[in-house]
Amino acid sequence: MWELFEKAGLDKWYKKPLDQILIEMGINRKIIDDLITPITRIIYSQNAEFGGFAGLTSLLGVYNGSMYSLEDGNELLPRKLLEASGSKVELESKVNYIEKKSNGRFQVLIGENSSVFDGIIVAAPLEGANIKFDGVPKQKYQERKYQKIYIKLLKGVVNLKYFNLDTSSKLPSVILTSKEADPITRFSINKSTKNESWMTITSTEPIGNDFVDEVLKKRRTFLDHTWSAAYPFFKPIQKIPPISIDNGLLYLNAIESATSSLETSTFAALQSIKIIKKQIIS
Ligand SMILES: Cc1cc2nc3c(=O)[nH]c(=O)nc-3n(C[C@H](O)[C@H](O)[C@H](O)COP(=O)(O)OP(=O)(O)OC[C@H]3O[C@@H](n4cnc5c(N)ncnc54)[C@H](O)[C@@H]3O)c2cc1C
Repeated sequence: MWELFEKAGLDKWYKKPLDQILIEMGINRKIIDDLITPITRIIYSQNAEFGGFAGLTSLLGVYNGSMYSLEDGNELLPRKLLEASGSKVELESKVNYIEKKSNGRFQVLIGENSSVFDGIIVAAPLEGANIKFDGVPKQKYQERKYQKIYIKLLKGVVNLKYFNLDTSSKLPSVILTSKEADPITRFSINKSTKNESWMTITSTEPIGNDFVDEVLKKRRTFLDHTWSAAYPFFKPIQKIPPISIDNGLLYLNAIESATSSLETSTFAALQSIKIIKKQIIS
């Protein structure tokens, strides 16, 4: 992967922190603190001092062009792709153990059942997957620390004073935050009736009811969700760790040392398929 990034001239982005890259490009600290950091916080709940490629991914998130979705729901896309692939899929099946045998094939323990495969692509962060490996070089994948995220979905009347808005102001759909707002990283607002709004609050620490009551009057909580490992704490890295852990054993989420997005995961998946084909067939 790192070779492809180097060829495309993108490696410079993951080698340094975002704020340092931007300062070297002549962007001043105030713009970084007041505009760039609020964007990186909304996307990855981290400030602009983090890995530059994750920063670049965050900035792409404010792209303002056309957005497309499927009329019958976006989940149709993976569903149709799966049907077209003709694959046999087992959901709700936890992989516990992967062992490389002396003949180069892999024995996989899924629940109580054991199966043997020619090749394996792991598509889950190993830090949380709880898979035991045997006979494969462990030093090929680096453990990373993951960011925990707390999200609340609420309904109530927005306290305009809290956000320094006057009664004539139109409610924004998103309220960005600077570092001073820690641990809160974003507010999203959807107005549903004349007075009441749906709001989601995202935080890197548990969100207390006292705080929520300051922000929303007549508040009701509809969902309280914690992502125990949302995405890595992005740090500058010299190389993206290898997605090929061993001959026939690929690890998509290695790319998450640089950034975590559906696009980069898709790219890593495509590369994995090309590599595993070469490794197994040749
Ligand atoms: C809050 C949040 C918001 C995000 N927003 C965006 C966004 O707007 N745009 C974007 O592009 N990306 C976004 N991302 C990142 C995106 O979700 C990830 O890049 C993507 O989900 C990675 O896909 P994956 O298949 O590698 O891993 P995952 O989606 O994490 O899937 C891994 C799967 O493996 C399963 N699993 C784990 N261990 C085992 C095991 N031992 N055996 C069997 N199965 C196992 C898990 O249950 C899970 O279903 C967001 C992430 C978070 C957390």
